[in-house]
Amino acid sequence: QSGAFGVSFDTDRDAAAASLPTFNRNEKLALQDQRRRLPVYQHRREILYLVEHHATVIIVGETGSGKTTQIPQYLLEAGWCSHGRMVACTQPRRVAAMTVAARVAEETGSTLGQAVGYGIRFEDVSTPGLTQIRFCTDGVLLQEMLQDPLLTAYSVIMVDEAHERSLATDTLLGLLKKVQRRRPDLRVIIASATLEAERVAAFFDASTVRGAKAGGDDLSKQPALLSVEGRTHSVQIHYLEKPCSDYVRTAVQTAADIHREDMPGDILIFLTGQQECEDCVVMLEEEARKVRAGRAPLRLMPVPLYAGLPAAAQLAAFEHAPRGYRKVVVATNIAETSVTIDGVVFVIDSCYSKQTAYNPLTGLESLLVAPVSKASAAQRAGRAGRVRPGHCFRLCTEADFQALSDATVPEMQRAELSGTVLRLKALGVDNMMTFDWLAPPPAETMIRALELLHALGALDVSARLSKPVGQQLAELPVDPRLGAALLASGRLGCSEEVATVVAMLSVHSVWAGARGERKALEAAKAKFAVGEGDLVTYLNVWKAWQESGRDRRWAARNCLNHRTLLRAADIRSQLCHHLRRLGIAMESCDTEVALLRKALAAGLLMNAVQLVDTAADISDPSSAGVNIYRILRSTGPGPLPKLRIHASSVLARTRPQWLVFWQVQQSSSGWFEMQEVTAIEPHWLPELADHVYTQIGAQRS
Ligand code: ADP
Ligand code: MG
Repeated sequence: QSGAFGVSFDTDRDAAAASLPTFNRNEKLALQDQRRRLPVYQHRREILYLVEHHATVIIVGETGSGKTTQIPQYLLEAGWCSHGRMVACTQPRRVAAMTVAARVAEETGSTLGQAVGYGIRFEDVSTPGLTQIRFCTDGVLLQEMLQDPLLTAYSVIMVDEAHERSLATDTLLGLLKKVQRRRPDLRVIIASATLEAERVAAFFDASTVRGAKAGGDDLSKQPALLSVEGRTHSVQIHYLEKPCSDYVRTAVQTAADIHREDMPGDILIFLTGQQECEDCVVMLEEEARKVRAGRAPLRLMPVPLYAGLPAAAQLAAFEHAPRGYRKVVVATNIAETSVTIDGVVFVIDSCYSKQTAYNPLTGLESLLVAPVSKASAAQRAGRAGRVRPGHCFRLCTEADFQALSDATVPEMQRAELSGTVLRLKALGVDNMMTFDWLAPPPAETMIRALELLHALGALDVSARLSKPVGQQLAELPVDPRLGAALLASGRLGCSEEVATVVAMLSVHSVWAGARGERKALEAAKAKFAVGEGDLVTYLNVWKAWQESGRDRRWAARNCLNHRTLLRAADIRSQLCHHLRRLGIAMESCDTEVALLRKALAAGLLMNAVQLVDTAADISDPSSAGVNIYRILRSTGPGPLPKLRIHASSVLARTRPQWLVFWQVQQSSSGWFEMQEVTAIEPHWLPELADHVYTQIGAQRS
């Protein structure tokens, strides 16, 4: 039986068997032995030599070659952490920062948070004066620069996973280039799985810059380039013969086919988001029961892995399956390069991922599910060849695959930039157009970002950071829009409530019980739902949890994730601390929820929309009878974006006339679906921002 791929495994089974002796998951090498076996170990001396003699070193190596876990340790061992200075290693993803720090702490035989620590937004697990290696998100390092612009706490900054080209990574690279001119002792390492390394090298080449401070006798300003060979085996790629309409289902079938063929090795499935992963796990569990009824010697063990999963649950994906089980990790993009899952021999790739897209004409940033690039797909396939020759099943036809773009567009070119611009301005970069970008963002996106910051009152007439609002916004570790809501709450006397809402927005969903318990979850959500919208509903959830005495069992009964709530509580107290430092008193508006809604509107004022009752002005017959909203602020030329309330919103049925939204998601049919909406009064808008809205109050009467 050949399954949807029209391939038989028989020919490969011999090859697999031949290489089996190297595949023994129960083999427990001492950690130090394992370290010496990693490909980077062969380059240890060379790396240390290059770091000593070059201001910038670029290291390219396959995922799993040991870049992230080993290089910071080599630097530590070579004395780069003396005089109280640290080695920083930045990650675009929080999961990676946390898991890698835990791994390195284990390898160095220390307690996490002492010699080896990590920092992610709202969570610092490191000890000043004691920590030597600090893994942190690139965003955290950017925020640190506001207090310490030259990053004097660090001797070496390793910018890891640079190929991801995240917004914060690109920003950091531009800033590090500036810092290097003032700090010749600082070393920068750029590590990446794939990279147009030459391009980054050219970007960092300061050997031609005159006036740069001399940095000792033999420090080269020319970046060094080192490539670490992988340790991967061949991966056979399979394509579908016909396109599939439902990649989740096809992924499950493919996993079941592999399982029935009884080939050894774990399976890794790439999907796009939390819901898909959870659905897929449910379907695999059903499949596992069916297969069990047959005579398969192994049992299937599906494990989800996505960013919103609580840390303890994430770790399950990294643990070896117990004897007699075959692990099937169902993951989002985080398993592409950020983390290493040992034992994977089969990769099933949907060839899709969730990506941010920004349209500067409409000023809307949305998440949408889109095909991955060939470079991404190659990384995903590479996860299969770690332990022995592997297989990658791409859930598309070969012709469709060939039509994919070669590389993913850097986030800088497809994201909303107000937060980035705000932070750069706070660091004294006033002219965005002349900043040294690795790849400059579109000029229209920049203009929109300045418009948004202007609307929030963060810029003065000459587009410099305003005092105090702009400076206060830059200091708050949240999106400028949420920061503006926090500042407004001080004026409106509802800082207690807004702090709660912003904290709840800063964690992944507080709702639990996604797996096969959708009915119970809907019922639980309905209990807390209020007509003012989703953000006020969050406040309700929070209050009820407080009244329960933060009871774990109460949370479980109400389909709420207790740990996530605890984390929100921690974030909330940090936000309150920030607000008090900015001189904002903590006050509650009690039952006057309108004040809370108004403060939220002050932050989200560029996301204000009005219900338009007919579909006539938007030429789409399928939209008849659906709620259609139009954005109130001015947009660029072209058709108006079609907005509607996402089905998950508590206001999906009531459809208030006026509202503000926090996020939009793009549906496959081109709708912008607003999530986390709040009902507002239109006359608030000119009150809150007469420089943006002058008409609305009048229009209404
Ligand atoms: P790279 O950064 O080059 O992708 P890493 O340094 O992250 O490589 O990982 C090197 C090796 O260390 C991996 O191949 C894996 O075997 C091991 N490793 C890393 N993290 C963990 C972990 N959390 N648990 C077990 N092994 C790990
Ligand atoms: Mg790595």
